[in-house]
Amino acid sequence: MADAARMPWTERAAETLGHYAGQVLIAAILAVVTLRFYSLPAELALAASFVVICVVLLAWLLMRQHDRRLCERCVRSLPLNPSQDAVRLRRRFWVTHTAAEPRFLIPYLVVLIGSNFATSTPGRVGWAIIQLSMVYLIIAHTTHRRLQPWCPWCSPDGGGNRAVDPDPVRHTVRPAVGVPSARLHDPRRRVVSSDR
Ligand SMILES: [Zn+2]
Ligand SMILES: [Zn+2]
Repeated sequence: MADAARMPWTERAAETLGHYAGQVLIAAILAVVTLRFYSLPAELALAASFVVICVVLLAWLLMRQHDRRLCERCVRSLPLNPSQDAVRLRRRFWVTHTAAEPRFLIPYLVVLIGSNFATSTPGRVGWAIIQLSMVYLIIAHTTHRRLQPWCPWCSPDGGGNRAVDPDPVRHTVRPAVGVPSARLHDPRRRVVSSDR
């Protein structure tokens, strides 16, 4: 906490917002979906869209910055038995890695963007479902970020076993935590074939 106290308030604010960026993005998605079903005046709809886009961009940038290491809040929120949680939440790890593969990512983005052109009521319901699927992706990504050292797709030994850190020098995360942040990278780094 001493480190955090010495940080300029702008960095502290960016770290806090970065830590909660997932929740901000989920709120933005819910706002977009809700707004689509209300016929707002054109100016208000435009202003709301602009605000949502700015919030999403800011949250995304701060999330990228935040994800380079575990912040104090991340560390404090680590479960007592992370390896057990990792086994329970294994599906989220799989989703995170699979969604990062271009063969899934590109068609997903095409459907995500293309669904915006649906104007009928069933089309808009389909659009809402597709947009809301991003909520699960964000939840999966957030879980993966917190428990990445125990992710079997990121760890050659299948995750777990993090008590002994073979090379603490290379790691930038706070040593007291014992979490090897060298593995806190983009999940695309270790995308494996879908045989797991
Ligand atoms: Zn954090
Ligand atoms: Zn992983």
